[in-house]
Amino acid sequence: MMIRFAILPLLLALNFSMCKKQQAVTEEPQPGGTSSPAAAAIAAASVAAASPKITKPVVDQTAQTLIFCYHRLVDKVRYPGTEITPAAFEAQMKELKDKGVTVISMQDLLAWKRGEKNIPPRCAVITFDDGWKSQYEVAWPILKKFGYPVTMFIYTEGVRGGSLGGGEAITWEQLADMRDNGVDIQAHTATHQDLREGHTVMVIEPGGKRTKKKLTGADYEKWVQNEVVGCKELLEQRLGIKVNCFAVPFGNYNEHVKELARNAGYEAMFTVYGQPITFTSPMDSIGRYAIEANKPKVFADAVSMIGASSGGGTAVAEVGAKDLMTQPADGETVHTALPLIKANLGSIGQIEPGSVQMRVSGLGLVPVSFDPKTGMVSYQVPQKLRDKTCTVIVSAKSAGKKVETHWTFGIEEGPATAASSPATTKK
Ligand SMILES: [Zn+2]
Repeated sequence: MMIRFAILPLLLALNFSMCKKQQAVTEEPQPGGTSSPAAAAIAAASVAAASPKITKPVVDQTAQTLIFCYHRLVDKVRYPGTEITPAAFEAQMKELKDKGVTVISMQDLLAWKRGEKNIPPRCAVITFDDGWKSQYEVAWPILKKFGYPVTMFIYTEGVRGGSLGGGEAITWEQLADMRDNGVDIQAHTATHQDLREGHTVMVIEPGGKRTKKKLTGADYEKWVQNEVVGCKELLEQRLGIKVNCFAVPFGNYNEHVKELARNAGYEAMFTVYGQPITFTSPMDSIGRYAIEANKPKVFADAVSMIGASSGGGTAVAEVGAKDLMTQPADGETVHTALPLIKANLGSIGQIEPGSVQMRVSGLGLVPVSFDPKTGMVSYQVPQKLRDKTCTVIVSAKSAGKKVETHWTFGIEEGPATAASSPATTKK
């Protein structure tokens, strides 16, 4: 029910705004500044690369992400279904920051979903749909001010100069500038219509003539192929990028469209049915919150929904062994097969005492001692470890979130192990 109510005004508003896009406007867009979400992304990547080596990445499967979908930013809202004022947009971007919601890039979200990269416990992804020049001229500078990454979902015929791209449309040059500065550019079909077979669609003939048709069979297949695959290829060729995300106009698709998209190499498909994205959310129907001037509660409710899920602060999922002053240290070689294994969880924050677990390779789950006052977890290996290397996994819960660390040390029993206390040397 709610979905129907949300879609109808969006559909109407988009139809209006699509018409608007076709009006010829003579003013040229101002080329924007060239500051640096890209640099931030590179910096973030190198930080990730420099973090302690972990054999298997551990991602926080309890993290949640809100994906917001915006359209046009205008000073005077006339189509509240797709427009909001720049001031309202900026206030929302600030609210994310103030409430401790980390804005991450779409590609980081996908890497997390693949289990390759961790994300903070409460995240948001900002997306802009359709390709309006106000996104380049107004929204982007605001995003840059906050250092937020952004994803643009573009329908290719709606880019300036295309059959649906009028004076308010974004240009290929503006998209190229955004690309050069780290903006993620993704697909939103060729002509922005209902993708399901048997629906009446507006078809653009090669000469530019438009006719409304109910396409079926081979005609439909050819048309939908261009909407789903042609759009991706055009964006990739025109901008020299890799497109792996597909936003479905109005969320109108079905299994056949999903299959086409999967076969075309899309990794994720997006609708406008907003919901927090979890580790297990299906990749072919990722919901986004469409933010509209006439529904301010959508944003507030979305933020409060994940805002309530954690106390914030120290709820980290993956902790470097170095930060926990582990004994033996990561990469160290000890000269005893009976090591005392220790880690200080004190730096993580308040640990729920019953939640502390240690796994030791070759032994499995072991009975640890944990001192809640110092945060020290320890285990004296009672029988000789047989392998030349030993991996330890310590996990615990802090502020409702699972925290985990992995480290590995080597064992070389030498003649010097006669001493009663285990001796260790740095490599
Ligand atoms: Zn759209």
